[in-house]
Amino acid sequence: MNIRIENLTKAYGDFKAVDNMNLTVGDGQLVGLLGPSGCGKSTTLFMLAGLTQATTGRIFFGDKEVTKVAPEDRGIGLVFQNYALYPHMTVEDNIMFPLINRKVNKQEARKMAYEMAELVQIEKLLKRKPSELSGGQQQRVAIARALVKKPKVLLLDEPLSNLDAKLRVETREEIRRIQQEVGITTIFVTHDQEEAMSISDQIAVMKTGVVQQFDVPQNMYLNPCNRFVATFLGTPEINIIDVEVSGGAIKCGDVVLRTGVDVKNGTYKAGIRPESFTHRGDDHKYSVNSVRMIGRDLLLHLDMAGGDVRAITHSGQSISAGDTVEFSIRESSIILFGSDDKVIGKF
Ligand code: ATP
Repeated sequence: MNIRIENLTKAYGDFKAVDNMNLTVGDGQLVGLLGPSGCGKSTTLFMLAGLTQATTGRIFFGDKEVTKVAPEDRGIGLVFQNYALYPHMTVEDNIMFPLINRKVNKQEARKMAYEMAELVQIEKLLKRKPSELSGGQQQRVAIARALVKKPKVLLLDEPLSNLDAKLRVETREEIRRIQQEVGITTIFVTHDQEEAMSISDQIAVMKTGVVQQFDVPQNMYLNPCNRFVATFLGTPEINIIDVEVSGGAIKCGDVVLRTGVDVKNGTYKAGIRPESFTHRGDDHKYSVNSVRMIGRDLLLHLDMAGGDVRAITHSGQSISAGDTVEFSIRESSIILFGSDDKVIGKF
C-alpha cells in the first residue's frame, strides 16, 4: 500500500513542528525520516499513526484518506524506541495481545503468534517474560507484535536507539530483512544518518519541520540539494571551506583547487568530502596536522591555507604528523554553495 502525504502541517500556536510536508512512499518501500532532534520526525510519524491530529493537510493510505481515521482503524503496526512490552506477560502473550483484543480465538492467535515469532527468529523464547530478554530480543518481540495483525503500514520510531552499537547494526539489518520478507510499506524515524542510509529505499531529510530533500540514499549523498543535507550525511563530516572564484579558478587562500570553472567571480562556501582527496598528477602539497586510524582507513587532518581539513586515505602508508603529503581533489567533488546555502554546482 502506498502512502501519500499532502501539504501536511502540525502547528503548536505559531510554531510549526511539521511545515507543509509532501511525500509519496511507494508500496513495499522503506523510507527513513532523518534529521536532528526536534526537526519534526516523530510528529510526522504520530500524524501517520493518528496519535496526533494534523493542523492542515491530508494523509492517504492507498486510495483511502485516513487523516481523521482513528489509530486502531488505520491498519498500522507501530514500534517505539522503548518497546513498551507488557512486563507481566510472556513473549507469546505479548505477541498475541492485539489478536485477543480483536476477539481472534486463542488457538488461532497462538498459531499466528508463532508464525510471527519465527519471522523475527524468537520462536524459542515464547515462554519467557520481557525482563528475561536482551534489548535486541525485546525489540524483535515488539516488531512481531506490531506485525501480527498483518498491518498494511509499519511505523517505527527510533526503534534501535536503546541498543548498543553492535546490536544496533544487527537489528537494523534484521528490520530490513523482515520488512522485505513481509513486503510492508514502512516509515522509519531515526537521527542516525548511517542507519537511514544503510536500510532505506529513500530518505527524507528534515530540518525545522521542513523536508529538505527526498531521495535515494546514494543520490542524497552525492548530490545534496543544500549545505544542511551535505553536512548531515557522511562521517567523517564533509569539509566546508571558504573559497574564492576568480577567472575560472577555485582557490582556498593560495591553494588552487580547480581551474576552468564557469562560475561568477566571488567568495563562496565549498564542500569537499574527506574521501575526495586523491592523486591526479597535479597534486598540491599539504602538511599533515594529525593522523588517526579509522577502521581500514587513515583520517588525516591537513593544513589548507591555514585552515584544517579532513582527508581520508588508505592505511598501509606511513604518514605522521608533520609530514608533507600531496593530493588533488577528485573530479566533480567540489560542491559550491550560494549565499542561500543551496548548491550551485559540483566542480
Ligand atoms: P527527536 O529526535 O528529539 O525525537 P523529532 O524530530 O522527533 O525529535 P518532534 O518530537 O517531532 O521532533 O518535535 C518537533 C518539534 O515540535 C520540537 O521542537 C518539539 O519541541 C515540538 N513539539 C512537539 N510536541 C509539542 C507539543 N505538544 N507542544 C508544543 N511543541 C511540541
